[in-house]
Amino acid sequence: MSDNENIKCPASSRLTVLRSHLSPDSSSSAMASEKEAALAAAPSDAPTIFDKIIKKEIPANVVYEDDKVLAFRDIAPQAPTHILIIPKVKDGLTGLSKAEERHFEILGRLLYTAKLLAKQEGLEDGFRVVINDGPQGCQSVYHIHVHLLGGRQMNWPPG
Ligand code: AMP
Repeated sequence: MSDNENIKCPASSRLTVLRSHLSPDSSSSAMASEKEAALAAAPSDAPTIFDKIIKKEIPANVVYEDDKVLAFRDIAPQAPTHILIIPKVKDGLTGLSKAEERHFEILGRLLYTAKLLAKQEGLEDGFRVVINDGPQGCQSVYHIHVHLLGGRQMNWPPG
C-alpha cells in the first residue's frame, strides 16, 4: 500500500477492510462489513491486492486465465458460485467510471469471460454479473472487476 493510501485510509479502516475480506459470512453483519470496507477504501490508482494475485505473490483459487484476463473465486463468496474476473493490465481502469474508448476490447472480454465461466460453472438457470463502482457502489478494490454470482436464486432490488 502506498504512503498516499496510508494517509487516506487509517490503520483501523484498513483492518476493517482486511477483516471483511478474511471472514466469509453471508449474514447481515457480513453485508455491513462489506459496506464498511467499501467506505474505508479510498479510490486510488495505487496497486491493489489483485496485482499481488496477478503476480502470484499471494494465492488465489484461479478458475480461468488467458493473456488478458484472470478469474478467481472470491474470498468471501456471496453465492455458491462467486468469481471475480479482472484484466491483467489495469491501464487506468480502477473502476468502470474510468472507462475510455481504448477500453472497449477489454470490457467486452471481461463480460464474455463471465459468460464462458457461467457455462463452465453449470449456471444454466441463470446468473448475475455485477460491477461495483465507487464508495456508493460499494467498491472496495480499485482494480476493475466483474463479479459473477450464481447457484442460488437472486433477489431484486439488490441491497
Ligand atoms: P468490490 O467490493 O466490488 O470492490 O469487490 C472486491 C471483492 O474482492 C470482494 O468481494 C472481496 O471479497 C474480494 N477479495 C478481496 N481480497 C480478495 C482475495 N485475496 N482473494 C479473492 N477475493 C478477494
